[in-house]
Amino acid sequence: MNTTTGPRSRVQTAPPKLHVPGCGRRQQNHRAVNDGRGRRRRSGGVFAVNAASKNYTLTLLPGDGIGPEIMRVAVDALHEVGRKHDIGFSFEEKLVGGAAIDEFGTPLPEDTLECCKQSDAVLLAAIGGYKWDALEANMRPERGLLGLRAGMEVFANLRPAVVLPQLADASSLKKDIVSGTDIMVVRELTGGIYFGEPKGFGTNDKGERIGFNTMVYSESEVDRIAKVAFEIAQKRGGKLCSVEKSNVLEVSQLWKERVIKQHENYKDVDLSHMYIDNCAMQVIRDPKQFDTIVTGNIFGDIISDAASMLTGSIGMLPSAAVGSSGPGLYEPVHGSAPDIAGQDKANPLAQVLSAAMLLRYQFGEEAAAKSIEEAVNTTLDQGFRTGDIMQEGMKLVGCTQMQEALMKNLSK
Ligand code: NAD
Repeated sequence: MNTTTGPRSRVQTAPPKLHVPGCGRRQQNHRAVNDGRGRRRRSGGVFAVNAASKNYTLTLLPGDGIGPEIMRVAVDALHEVGRKHDIGFSFEEKLVGGAAIDEFGTPLPEDTLECCKQSDAVLLAAIGGYKWDALEANMRPERGLLGLRAGMEVFANLRPAVVLPQLADASSLKKDIVSGTDIMVVRELTGGIYFGEPKGFGTNDKGERIGFNTMVYSESEVDRIAKVAFEIAQKRGGKLCSVEKSNVLEVSQLWKERVIKQHENYKDVDLSHMYIDNCAMQVIRDPKQFDTIVTGNIFGDIISDAASMLTGSIGMLPSAAVGSSGPGLYEPVHGSAPDIAGQDKANPLAQVLSAAMLLRYQFGEEAAAKSIEEAVNTTLDQGFRTGDIMQEGMKLVGCTQMQEALMKNLSK
């Protein structure tokens, strides 16, 4: 059976803490969650689900739009997989994004961030929507997400792009080109040109206005992202391609030097180097040549989006943001899809696959992650499709029916 996310094991993280008593009790910053037994209940602090030999505390951030609909499915899947693999979960649900703006006037309440930092991992759905579009930039839901990433110190963005055999026809590229594609893009998330100083506007010698940004990486920033990428490559196909622009940029020359230096500790990984412009072509021309890619913030932004489009549907793509230790942030690539929110049309599978990534990368629960991925595969094999991945001859279902089919397969 093919798995739906590529990597086969986890990033080294600190051992999970087992319980977070009192997490998030300063404000009533929570709302009803599904307890996995079909009941809705208030999450008044942490609630434990079952008495298992292992227990993990997760912060749930359903956010806005379709977020609460798809989060419910992922929580049910975690409950079921926990039952099967003797894993207990304690969930605490918190507000972020537009929902937090409405309730507290800020997209990231302090209490939400604190709870996330204290938990073993964070599962986020999506934030944003038309309702908050007119707010000024620093008050918008997106700020909540940026604040969350910064506050949790997650610097490595993991974006798998796996072409599932059932959906190979959905890609805009020819089936024989994309079939079998299984790429993991590891993107540096907190440095590079998006954050470098100086930046701003000014005037040049001719009195003309200019805009400028600085692309800068320190040795330690490159070393830590390279380490994450080598460890992921080790657990996957053992190939790492470092993508930069060292023929032109000094910052890329330093990047390449440090990646080569880190390679000394990971001799079992086959390291190659590619310029970003060539990589953009190669990902489209022959995506199967790649196993794991590591790259900086702006190059990764572009390449991970390009790679994800090989798969054909945004509703199927999970992602993770992790740091050197502590809880990671696991979320689908897509946004809050306000155009279909509340209509039972959302595809919950990217959210469910994000939960599988969480199990694998945060906790090393490989068997549980695989159970989820195999249930997703079986559900697709049975022909169930939400609107975004609908194909001729398949069964069009909504979020609820997709959940039912998935849960049946997961409980087998
Ligand atoms: P989007 O990903 O929300 O939607 C793009 C298109 O894909 C829409 O037609 C939508 O219906 C569809 N789609 C997305 N997810 C789907 C799913 N699971 N099932 C079925 N169809 C799905 O992107 P957008 O429209 O550009 O943004 C909408 C809002 O989401 C904005 O406020 C934006 O800022 C926010 N956003 C949030 C995140 C995040 O939380 N990480 C990411 C991107 C966008």
